[in-house]
Amino acid sequence: MSRRKDRERYQVRKSLDPGYQGFRGPEPKPETKPEVRTAVCSVCKRVKNVPADIPEDVDYVCAACREGGS
Ligand SMILES: [Zn+2]
Repeated sequence: MSRRKDRERYQVRKSLDPGYQGFRGPEPKPETKPEVRTAVCSVCKRVKNVPADIPEDVDYVCAACREGGS
């Protein structure tokens, strides 16, 4: 039940398997570049690259503005 034991076990497992990346698993590697187009963020008015499948008639808000909020 000790957390330290768990961490030790994790370290051992990691040292045995350099590829072990915990719970998150390996990073997905996209093999094809997604199609992108440019869109102007309706909040900061910056031009951004966005996935081409985002509809043009919807106001685009970039990730920074969506997260930043304020
Ligand atoms: Zn923005």
